[in-house]
Amino acid sequence: MKITDVETIILRLPVVELIGDGTQDVAIVKIHTDEGIVGIGEGHTSPYVIESIINAPASHVASRGLKELLIGQNPLDIGVLWRRMFASSSVYGRRGAVIHAISAIDLALWDILGKATGLSVSQLLGGTEIQEVDAYASILMPPSPHEAQRQAEALAEQGFRAIKFGWGHLGAGVAKDLAYVKAIREAVGCDIAIMIDIGTGVSLDYATRLARALEDHDIYFLEEPLPPDDLAAYARLTSATQVPIATGEKETTLSGFEQLITRGRVDIIQPDLARAGGLTELRRIAVLAQLHGVRLVPHCWSTDILVAATVQFVATLPDHPYVEFCVNDSPLRREVAREPITASNGRIRIPTGPGLGVALNEETVARYRYH
Ligand code: MG
Repeated sequence: MKITDVETIILRLPVVELIGDGTQDVAIVKIHTDEGIVGIGEGHTSPYVIESIINAPASHVASRGLKELLIGQNPLDIGVLWRRMFASSSVYGRRGAVIHAISAIDLALWDILGKATGLSVSQLLGGTEIQEVDAYASILMPPSPHEAQRQAEALAEQGFRAIKFGWGHLGAGVAKDLAYVKAIREAVGCDIAIMIDIGTGVSLDYATRLARALEDHDIYFLEEPLPPDDLAAYARLTSATQVPIATGEKETTLSGFEQLITRGRVDIIQPDLARAGGLTELRRIAVLAQLHGVRLVPHCWSTDILVAATVQFVATLPDHPYVEFCVNDSPLRREVAREPITASNGRIRIPTGPGLGVALNEETVARYRYH
């Protein structure tokens, strides 16, 4: 089998707001082969940037666009192609957007491997003993504790046993953040896990006071309270509080997570399959985390392509961590797959079809296609 084309499709809502919601546009990658099998993947990043990285002509031997490296190659040689893409973009890559682009391609290559063999990605990764994974509902923090209570109650009524509020109106003061948490806990009682995601970094002093104040409220984790590169500050924070500290949605590659774990000393890492290096790199990051006694709970806030990949991956991990399930009503969140992935009683069935187990809804693609 040979790769014949790498197509980047950008979808974008008519109005994009400057809020912490990454479901307003998306880059989908389709990899075409001479046997008619088409793999799909996505990069969760600036779609316009990774489109350039994929389509760029070569500047020199270690500064090449990714598409020209893939045309004519065997798509089943996923590890070979991953290393070649990384090495051949190493002047301008190694982190950030190039790894996001490699992630999109990697997911599409695993999808092709599954379709070529008739196996799901979870089977290809070693199989799983479960049919469903636990989801946590993930939502932006609304403008008032009362509204947060109302949303938490509605999500609990839908059957979610874990709920995360993030970004939005968090980070405006320790007392305000604490008032939100108290209100949410009061609304849902003691049987539901609550996660809090600050998202935009606050100071170490703020984060430490908040984390200590949250110790009495049974928080499952406090996410991204500090800027992503402040590893010494993360180490000081984790040593100062009992609340598990989670971060990593902006981190990429095995070596990035090695730094986060060994220098940042965080309790939970949150690699995103559409950013950190795809399934190929996530497998290695999962082993690293396991060896260090660190939990891996993936970041997942995008289309059902990413949700499917995350569900397939999580199902094969020994502890089957939560899958983040964004409950936004954005059409790019809900309508990109022909059969949308849903959570029922807080659980998601693992897609059983070959590869990632999702097909594109071409009507949605046509409606929101940017160019
Ligand atoms: Mg987050």
